Amino acid sequence: MKFYSIAIDGPAGAGKSTLSKLLAKELGFMYVDTGAIYRTVGYYINLMGIGSKDTDGVRRLIDEVNIDIYIDENNVQRMVLNGQDVTDEIRTPEMSKYASDVSAMAFVRSFLLDMQRDLAKKNNVIMDGRDIGTVVLPEADLKIFLTASAEERARRRFEEYAAKGEKTTFEQVLADINQRDFNDSNRKAAPLKKAADAIEVDTTGETLEQSEKRIIELVREKLAI
Ligand code: C5P
Repeated sequence: MKFYSIAIDGPAGAGKSTLSKLLAKELGFMYVDTGAIYRTVGYYINLMGIGSKDTDGVRRLIDEVNIDIYIDENNVQRMVLNGQDVTDEIRTPEMSKYASDVSAMAFVRSFLLDMQRDLAKKNNVIMDGRDIGTVVLPEADLKIFLTASAEERARRRFEEYAAKGEKTTFEQVLADINQRDFNDSNRKAAPLKKAADAIEVDTTGETLEQSEKRIIELVREKLAI
């Protein structure tokens, strides 16, 4: 049986996860948020008292990381780390930083590669991340590179944090976004870049509904479903 895969890459806050979730629901596909996987690794490293840039420390611990992913009855991707559900704990600015730092380590990326590919072998997936179209699923049926201006992305992230009662400022979130863009684009291991055959969708100034409509049209055209 043929399983379809849609790769959605782009910088932090471009709307990847929100749009991917909507799309997955509309198409009946499984949504895989790969950022959550890197966050889970980062969470463990932090829990063990290791700094996010301590490459030797991360290398020592990586084999202790056991991750299970499942979709709960509310359609939420749950992240289970060594038997403990950490889905909510990984959504903090500190874990964003940890994820960004550990994801720059090549051995962390290869440790997680098969897990991501296995999900796409067994399901119709919409997978979002930074290197899905370039590295994880180079044969994806459709690749979208989702972008928006840094200010707009920071505003969206800031509102997300504020809604959860996370204490931070817009300026701080913008600085974090700029730093993560820089890290993600300039690292040696699988940097964030548009795949040659990806379609770029810039969502700056668009409502969610407008972006969703545009992407659904692309999917229907490309996958003929
Ligand atoms: O998408 P999210 O903000 O949750 O990702 C957290 C961090 O994980 C990103 O800043 C990026 O450094 C890293 N990441 C990655 N490759 C992916 C997904 C996320 O390097 N496929």
